[in-house]
Amino acid sequence: MCKKIDFKTLGEKLYWIYANIAMAHVALDHNHSKYQRLDYMVRARLYKGLCTGTMRIGTLYDDEKEKLGNDICCYCGSGDKLTLDHLIPRKNGGTDSGDNIVYACRKCNSSKSSTDLIEWMLRNDKFPPLLILRRYMKIVISFCEVNDYMDKDYTMFEELDLPFRIDLLPYRFPNPGELRLRAAN
Ligand SMILES: [Zn+2]
Repeated sequence: MCKKIDFKTLGEKLYWIYANIAMAHVALDHNHSKYQRLDYMVRARLYKGLCTGTMRIGTLYDDEKEKLGNDICCYCGSGDKLTLDHLIPRKNGGTDSGDNIVYACRKCNSSKSSTDLIEWMLRNDKFPPLLILRRYMKIVISFCEVNDYMDKDYTMFEELDLPFRIDLLPYRFPNPGELRLRAAN
């Protein structure tokens, strides 16, 4: 159960996390408080499909829809003093493109500052809202695809100039009862 997962390539780890997001999403949609067979099946199917190339990461279309009429901080759900935040900080190589930009309240924005998203969340003992993690993973995977990093040996990740902390990305997810799809106040 608590077996450590050995990822051979960067791509395997990133796909595994992405497949876990899909698993958790299905579990939340079905109000499962613990993962069930259906959820695990969704993860297994997607992971295999992504690794073998028969399935693809979704586009950012659905993620962009989340921004419409949704004027709350994507991290904490507050509607106070909203600012724009870079999911991957500019200082770490994040871009000004719309997919990397989200609404954040001033408090979260200044607390996160140029800290890596996952590092910041862990420091605050929080798991990212699923839809934010999904958006983040799409950016991360796209970056690795463009730079031909997906097939790189996972143990060598420190030699790559990654704009995110791949070592901190969660490969084991909390129970759905402890997860949320979006930030809530
Ligand atoms: Zn906030």
